[in-house]
Amino acid sequence: MYDCIIVGQGIAGTVLAYTFLKNQKTPFVISTDKLPSASQVAGGIFNPLTGKNLVKTWLADELFPFLHTFYRELEQVLGEKFLHSTPIYRPFRSIEEQNEWLAKSALQEFKPYLNTDVNENQYCSDIKNPFGGVETLQAGWVELPKLLNSFHCFLKKKSLYFREIFDYSALQIFSEKVAYKDIEAERIIFCEGTQAIHNPFFQNLPFNFAKGEMIDVWVEDASFESIVNQGVSLIPLQENTYRVASTYSWEGLDWEISEKARTELIGKARNLLKKDFRVIAQNAGVRPATKNRRPIIGLHPQMPRVGIFNGLGSKGVSLAPYLADRFYKHIYENAPLPHEINQPA
Ligand SMILES: Cc1cc2nc3c(=O)[nH]c(=O)nc-3n(C[C@H](O)[C@H](O)[C@H](O)COP(=O)(O)OP(=O)(O)OC[C@H]3O[C@@H](n4cnc5c(N)ncnc54)[C@H](O)[C@@H]3O)c2cc1C
Repeated sequence: MYDCIIVGQGIAGTVLAYTFLKNQKTPFVISTDKLPSASQVAGGIFNPLTGKNLVKTWLADELFPFLHTFYRELEQVLGEKFLHSTPIYRPFRSIEEQNEWLAKSALQEFKPYLNTDVNENQYCSDIKNPFGGVETLQAGWVELPKLLNSFHCFLKKKSLYFREIFDYSALQIFSEKVAYKDIEAERIIFCEGTQAIHNPFFQNLPFNFAKGEMIDVWVEDASFESIVNQGVSLIPLQENTYRVASTYSWEGLDWEISEKARTELIGKARNLLKKDFRVIAQNAGVRPATKNRRPIIGLHPQMPRVGIFNGLGSKGVSLAPYLADRFYKHIYENAPLPHEINQPA
């Protein structure tokens, strides 16, 4: 008998499954590539200071130290490099913003996350930065497709993975276990991202999906190696190739690329880049975001052998490791979950 069936192997299911393994428990993962996955198209950025005014993100002091250790350890286990720790350079929009940020950087709560003593030389030939900029620290990006595919192979080798569209009607829930076809486990946790809207066990979840699109661009003679963010993020993928991420839309929630988003991203990239570029790829996806921007995590109130780990919104990479650990401790040690999260009602 397995300790847990995990349905869905995006970043949520991957991180949760590894959290079980780390704790000497045996997960069994069921997932499919026939349904869309936000993790396969995401930019993969983790950034402790976000938004126009660089606000410290929810639980930043816990999430960021935790995620570095988590992904580094997972790299060792998988023998694959997918974590790119890099500062995020943020050019100032005005002298006022420059002054504001220099003052803010002196505050204790921002000190671990800000570098105001930036070596501007590494950016000034490529990036429009007439007022200079700051760097956010403890930031970077994760190559999600690489991590997900590598973890999929790892699970398959251990016979802990089955590729199929989960058939909800085949799940049996008993007082002491759950059974799905011939697989028995102590519990089941659903990590289906946006596809959770088809899950009959959890209805009326407080989702507020947000579509996002990104383009990859080839930039003539570009040399900057950190992420740059102002309006959009420019993620260095390989020599001269950058990802421009991303748009937000709460309408037309399909997974198709659009001319409108491409035009918006090109415009924003032009505002940042001094050099010519051409678009070489475009991707679209839908974020499993929620109304209050907090994840949905917990056990079913009437069926405690059934759980959900979802609602990671636009921050799956930074939220998943720490919150999977909290969820694990909630299940096995009865530890409380962060009170802000959405628990299934
Ligand atoms: C354009 C864009 C840019 C983004 N950029 C970032 C970023 O820079 N940083 C960041 O942290 N986040 C980013 N995100 C958000 C990120 O993608 C999500 O937070 C994260 O991917 C959610 O992961 P998940 O595992 O919950 O869902 P998903 O990745 O969607 O995974 C769900 C998995 O479950 C499987 N599944 C669903 N139903 C079933 C079923 N019935 N049977 C079997 N399998 C099933 C699906 O096939 C899929 O593999 C971005 C999203 C988009 C769209």
